[in-house]
Amino acid sequence: MAPQASPLLRNLNPEQLAAVTLPAGHALILAGAGSGKTRVLTTRIAWLLQNGLATPGGILAVTFTNKAAKEMLTRLSALLPINVRGMWIGTFHGLCNRLLRAHHKLANLPQAFQILDTQDQLSAIKRLMKQFNVDDERFPPKQVQWFIAGAKEDGRRPGDVEGGNEDDRKKIELYQLYEEQCQREGVVDFGELMLRSYELLRDNDAIRAHYQRRFRHILVDEFQDTNRLQYAWLKQLAGPESSVLAVGDDDQSIYAFRGARVGNMADFVREFNVAHQIKLEQNYRSFGNILDAANELIGHNSSRLGKSLRTEQGAGEPVRVYESTSDLGEAQWMVEEIRNLVRGGRGAGPSQAAPAAPGGGAAHEAASAGAEGYEKREIAILYRSNAQSRVIETALFNAAVPYRVYGGLRFFERAEIKHALAYLRLLENPHDDTSFLRVANFPARGIGARTLEQLQDAARKAGASLHDAVAGIPGKAGANLAGFVAMIDVMREQTKGLPLREIIEVVNDASGLVEHYRHEREGADRIENLHELVNAAESFVTQEGFGRDAVALPVDELRGEPPHGDELAQSPASQGIDPARPLLDEPLAPDAQTGETLSPLAAFLTHAALEAGDNQAQAGQDAVQLMTVHSAKGLEFDCVFIGGLEEGLFPHQNAMSDRDGLEEERRLMYVAITRARKRLYLSHAQTRLLHGQMRYSVPSRFYDELPEGALKWITPRHGGFGAYAPDSIATGAGTTGAGGPFGKYSSPFASFSNVVRGTPPVAQKAAPSHGLRAGLQVFHAKFGEGTVLSIEGMGDDARAQVNFARHGVKWLALSVAKLTVV
Ligand code: ATP
Ligand code: MG
Repeated sequence: MAPQASPLLRNLNPEQLAAVTLPAGHALILAGAGSGKTRVLTTRIAWLLQNGLATPGGILAVTFTNKAAKEMLTRLSALLPINVRGMWIGTFHGLCNRLLRAHHKLANLPQAFQILDTQDQLSAIKRLMKQFNVDDERFPPKQVQWFIAGAKEDGRRPGDVEGGNEDDRKKIELYQLYEEQCQREGVVDFGELMLRSYELLRDNDAIRAHYQRRFRHILVDEFQDTNRLQYAWLKQLAGPESSVLAVGDDDQSIYAFRGARVGNMADFVREFNVAHQIKLEQNYRSFGNILDAANELIGHNSSRLGKSLRTEQGAGEPVRVYESTSDLGEAQWMVEEIRNLVRGGRGAGPSQAAPAAPGGGAAHEAASAGAEGYEKREIAILYRSNAQSRVIETALFNAAVPYRVYGGLRFFERAEIKHALAYLRLLENPHDDTSFLRVANFPARGIGARTLEQLQDAARKAGASLHDAVAGIPGKAGANLAGFVAMIDVMREQTKGLPLREIIEVVNDASGLVEHYRHEREGADRIENLHELVNAAESFVTQEGFGRDAVALPVDELRGEPPHGDELAQSPASQGIDPARPLLDEPLAPDAQTGETLSPLAAFLTHAALEAGDNQAQAGQDAVQLMTVHSAKGLEFDCVFIGGLEEGLFPHQNAMSDRDGLEEERRLMYVAITRARKRLYLSHAQTRLLHGQMRYSVPSRFYDELPEGALKWITPRHGGFGAYAPDSIATGAGTTGAGGPFGKYSSPFASFSNVVRGTPPVAQKAAPSHGLRAGLQVFHAKFGEGTVLSIEGMGDDARAQVNFARHGVKWLALSVAKLTVV
């Protein structure tokens, strides 16, 4: 215990201890899920502060979500009596925002610049394309958005993008126009936050030098998901005296589709000349069966850096698997199971009591949660795609089980909230054209689409904002527009100096929004949300100390309290750091000292754009947690449900046709599994209504990649396909060869067509009457040409799985769909 004398270090294993107390220098911790990476990162910050090796202002820590940042701050303030407000702990976007607010002049932005979320960005692009008569069939706005975002992630301005063909050149031109439009309106999108603050550091020697001197310790969590630009940004911030600690897990890299580069890890080791590399191999989160499932699954990926994970906790309960006939059934089962879990029963409702666990699974029937039951907040339902949540939400709602949805349509993204925010933004900045267009005629006030087009033309000709161009529009249309502008001006006057909550109350009423929704069929919910916005603002102001992310803080706040160093585990000198060296911050760079601060309203609008926007009122409630697997990263729960384990859904259809895509899906599944501490449930449905279409599904290939001995199969509640017997799995897996069905996955669809899992026994009998078989080329009037992958069922139930060249893999009922062999 000697070196662990500090209570801070008491519960660390030797590798963790080494990582927490590393001497100065760059370091990489590469370790699997639940091995304590985030814990090490937080503890190291506390340890540095406690031992006088850093001041709060000298630390910059990047986390992946706002939630994680908040947790870190809470933990730190519990560990140490310091003022955490001055600490730069946040997401990349949050920190960039902070940097740009502090140096907005140098960054060529108004101080109260507004942030466009993805949805706003798309509508800004659509507006621009309309204005310049760009054919939106040839250039789908989403593609243009993707193009711009991608360029920014690579750190490229329009002039830096190489345009090969005519289409590329057009997109580059649109990128240029879009930039001009944003600049004129004083708005930035997410990519711009990052790029602009990178450029700020790159192009201003004094600013860069200032921050480099200041941030002696830069710590990055979830490093595997940084993109090129984020890495370049970190390089700008790291000075000769800085130590960068990056922690990550290549197996949890799940944002390649957004430009994340696992390669940043290797680059980091090389370019920073990393002095210390530490592996953590003990998992503290999950019981053995859960960990076995995770390890075996991820073993099917070939591109891995290679790590292992073990646990000292026992095997625990088996991983439970459930098949239902429909998505509805799946949701109902989840709810029933959750009620049992909460009640403290064995979680084995009638459906589980059935003698359903054949094979090895039964051997692991372990003692359950005990009588006390689980807290609802310790139960999470994870899904691959947001569209899955609706059915689950309905089931929870009907059963009166409180739940909370993260991500998805976030609170601040709901239409009524966006309308209210648009009015609020116009109070701050009348030249915000996106907001102007959103609410000029909402609620309706006789301003038609043609009038708005006319106004946009006039604004473009005059090089002015819509607000300024209103005066030039004649006639009744002009009068209506002038009326709208006057209404905003009156609101602005009316709300001057009012507390934030009252501003929002005035806007809700004076805009006519509340009145409008009163007459709408489902308006009551929307009105409730508008009231909730007032509450959100209120708690933002009181609890959060508004503007923590948005305001240039006074210098002494950045310095924080003097560190408490009375529990030195090892002396600073032994850490290679000169204890006599002053660690206090440099004074802030000039334009951050002007004393300008954001209005509470501007700060709140920033918060609305950057925060996950979870409904504030629900924040403290004990509720079941619903989220996509992506947003579950870094989190942990006692009980986890992973639903929709179906081919095409998880792994996702878009990712099934190439090896890299499939490996990323598998990492996603690894992330999902490793969120669970005690209980893990996997489920799939035979049919699912998704995006308005009924899909027939086969169970996910991932089932085949889990160790049979760790699973317990539960008989489906609803008849249909009958028992989902492990033999049929074995048969299916057997056809694809030994050594892991998809381990050598070169031609996905060829292999896939061989795999028949969870197939009703009838499907394997009898000759087909439809004349189709796997491998045939077929034609469908709507989907075009495709290859039959597999056939299931007979007569009216017969269905074919076809891989269409243009539309991907679809299941078609042969009694309905007309397929001709070509
Ligand atoms: P992920 O890869 O999912 O982000 P992680 O590596 O960041 O996981 P943590 O979240 O830091 O892991 O830790 C996982 C769990 O294990 C946490 O509940 C943490 O408190 C606990 N834990 C970590 N180290 C220890 C330890 N030495 N003793 C006891 N519990 C620990
Ligand atoms: Mg973590």
